[in-house]
Amino acid sequence: MKVSAAEAARALDLNNHTIAKLLDAHILVGPTSASGRRQGVYVTSLETAQSVPPTTLARGDVAFHVGAAESDTNPAHRRTYAGWHAMKSLAVSQGDRRRAWGGVWNMTEDNADGLGGHAVCSVGGFIVDVAKVEGTRRCPCCDLAVFDLADPDDLAVSRYRGRRFSGVGQGSLFTFG
Ligand SMILES: [Zn+2]
Repeated sequence: MKVSAAEAARALDLNNHTIAKLLDAHILVGPTSASGRRQGVYVTSLETAQSVPPTTLARGDVAFHVGAAESDTNPAHRRTYAGWHAMKSLAVSQGDRRRAWGGVWNMTEDNADGLGGHAVCSVGGFIVDVAKVEGTRRCPCCDLAVFDLADPDDLAVSRYRGRRFSGVGQGSLFTFG
């Protein structure tokens, strides 16, 4: 049983672009044709996504809105890819997983240095990882902000893990609580 991408978008109150991103990251799963063309979203996958409870960002925390894993060819960034993918991310170490989304972000020094809370990684509003911000530094090659991330506090885990944000605007790269 499957529904169209447009039906999934309506059911989740998301746009088609975000549905495609969720499919790319394997947060939603659907059938493909022999040639690899997408043919909608499995109903069970949609229902799982619909059952994800909502949450909001706490004051002092930051949410990074990433796309599906893609290669980062800059060796100075010391990451094999950027973004997130349900299978790829869980196949690597926790450090590699966090490096894939903990940098490299174009934010001001004030924004980056003012963060003392937790960082949350979301794909289309679905929270896929959470970590405590231990500090920030400037990437030597591009001067963008890179976060040093550590294991999250229990409170942050219960607030964020397995939850989703609603109303994540298309194109927003990060949100501050
Ligand atoms: Zn850099």
